[in-house]
Amino acid sequence: MARIPDAFIDELLARADIVEVISARVQLKRQGREFAACCPFHDERSPSFTVSPNKQFYHCFGCGAHGTALSFLMQYDRLEFLDAVEELARRVGLEVPRDTQQRNVNPDTRDLYGEMEAAASFFRSHLTQSDKARAYVKKRGIAPEVLEHYAIGYAPDGFSALRDALGTDPRRMQLLERGGLFSKNDRGNVYDKFRDRLMFPIHDRRGRVIAFGGRVIDPEDSPKYLNSPETPLFHKGRELYGLWQARQANQKLERLIVVEGYMDVVALAQYGIAQAVATLGTATTPEHAELLFRSAPDVYFCFDGDRAGRGAAWKALESVLPRLKDGRQAFFLFLPDGEDPDSLVRKEGVEGFNAQLHSATPLSEFFYAQLSSDVNLTSLDGKARLAERCKPLLAQIPDGAFGDLMRQRLTELTGVGASTSAAQVHVPTQRIGRATRSTPGQKPSLIRTAITHLLQRPSFALALQTPYRFAALRQPGIDLLAELVLLVRERPDINTGALLEHFAGREEAVSLQKLALQDLPGEEDDLRIEFLDAIAQLDKQLLQQRIEELQQQLHAGQLSEDDKQELRELLQARLAR
Ligand SMILES: [Zn+2]
Repeated sequence: MARIPDAFIDELLARADIVEVISARVQLKRQGREFAACCPFHDERSPSFTVSPNKQFYHCFGCGAHGTALSFLMQYDRLEFLDAVEELARRVGLEVPRDTQQRNVNPDTRDLYGEMEAAASFFRSHLTQSDKARAYVKKRGIAPEVLEHYAIGYAPDGFSALRDALGTDPRRMQLLERGGLFSKNDRGNVYDKFRDRLMFPIHDRRGRVIAFGGRVIDPEDSPKYLNSPETPLFHKGRELYGLWQARQANQKLERLIVVEGYMDVVALAQYGIAQAVATLGTATTPEHAELLFRSAPDVYFCFDGDRAGRGAAWKALESVLPRLKDGRQAFFLFLPDGEDPDSLVRKEGVEGFNAQLHSATPLSEFFYAQLSSDVNLTSLDGKARLAERCKPLLAQIPDGAFGDLMRQRLTELTGVGASTSAAQVHVPTQRIGRATRSTPGQKPSLIRTAITHLLQRPSFALALQTPYRFAALRQPGIDLLAELVLLVRERPDINTGALLEHFAGREEAVSLQKLALQDLPGEEDDLRIEFLDAIAQLDKQLLQQRIEELQQQLHAGQLSEDDKQELRELLQARLAR
């Protein structure tokens, strides 16, 4: 993937004004130090979308959308990262450093993308050449424009068609092998992995071919579906078949429909339902869930109505639950026996299929139906058991109206549990959670204070002297604080938005986002003093930590003469403070 130097991004974000970028697209209203609007990313009547000119980021309290001027362009204009960079650079009159970009691309990876693209073209040309494949496509009723949109192809029969055509030198052979296009027999001979199959290229979010799925044409052949193995480009737990095409076909995705196979995706598209995606032979992972909700607010999961289907649906629910911020919804459609989306839409047409989706089971209903299926809710015992089962799961739902309603429902069912707020049983998914979460009335920890100030006024870090003694403290959150300080040192122009961006996708991201949003009262100078004071106190704690360490060793009789000297000096230093 092409890389643009961080320093350039920092400069870009420092020069661009997020208020200007957003107000060109959304009507903003001044509200104190910030601007507010009705969120462009979810439906709402009262504004919960805020833009901060000081911190140079936006945040929606309703749906959680947030980011920098760059992420806004990506989210709102649906631009890919590089295009968003180009667009913003053009606005502020900066030149994107092209050659750096080129130099940073790993030539292996670049060539691998090229080879996957070549394989895709090879398969496509063979679809037009093969009578058998064309007859099959016709029988399945796939129109030429749909074939085109999904770049569907055909892998010819035989063991070396692709190999002979593309593996023209050792380097290309090696790339094709790394791309997962070959299999190897016992004697070490490589041969085409995909043979006599309809080929569905799998695209990444930028529309590059990264893998393939092949479906048998002959019903006698097996397996029915064959996917590329995991490769440097392809990790099946992170990719969704058809997402790129769905984004291309829809200005704004209101919903996504998750189905099982590529044929289902294509069949739905054939009927004008261009919002279907498929997982690639895996259960729905948390990465999938994140990707789905980042693309659309409503997600419909289609599963078989049988036992296996319900099991898979529950897996999906578990991945989805921690991501159900307000404004996001998940539904489950259990298909009638023997039907798949492909057969269903053919039989019932678009309206029939949409009607099925309309009557799909909301996540809340599926959740309680599944958990209470084997408990007797008329007995106290049964109620208690249900409450026990629900608690850890409910605790994963982000704060908001949906979580409240789910807990309320539990109370209705059992009479227990309403007071079990998320905070009490919070699953510790965030490493800095303990250090950074403060309950009302309690003084925030020093580390939390330092991190909050630093996030909001990154330049404070430049006032610190090296070595950063506090970094050696053994306390939760200290690594993060040190990382922030070093990051600002390396990228002195960085602003709050860009700092948050740096942590996007990491487990700390949510907590940092919250801290960045806090309103810190006081003037710049007071805040600087608060920050420096917190760091000074942390430095002092390190002194104490070292003294305790040495004293322990002293008691264990393991102290060298040098250590003893150090201990004496430290004790004196402590007295002197
Ligand atoms: Zn929103």
